[in-house]
Amino acid sequence: MKRRELSSKCLDLTTGRPRWTYPSAKAAQSAAPEEGVATGSILEPAHCQICGLYHLVVVGERGAVDGACNCTANGGRAKRAYPSRQVADATAEFRSQSERLQLWPYRCPTGNGWHLTKNAPQHQGRRPRAQA
Ligand SMILES: [Zn+2]
Ligand SMILES: [Zn+2]
Repeated sequence: MKRRELSSKCLDLTTGRPRWTYPSAKAAQSAAPEEGVATGSILEPAHCQICGLYHLVVVGERGAVDGACNCTANGGRAKRAYPSRQVADATAEFRSQSERLQLWPYRCPTGNGWHLTKNAPQHQGRRPRAQA
């Protein structure tokens, strides 16, 4: 039985280490529950166009809650809270690839974990300035 191998091409952006690759969607799927427990995430196989193999990507988070706090997104919907910065980062990375959406983790102002926002964080200072 084939096992996972470390990719020579694809890096996990959140850890900077090579991603695990699986030879088939089935192999990735069978590894997803175990890997998910280890990383605190809900994982699904995804075919990678870079290396042609399969990776596990974060599609959800163990412990992520909708409406854990009073924070709301645009349109008034309750924001999803992520239990840790790591999980929020992984989700942001996944969504940036799957939805071409740039998201930024930030700590919930009321202390209920982490949220993602489309607005770049202000406290990092440099805001892209429109060219005159
Ligand atoms: Zn890959
Ligand atoms: Zn909040």
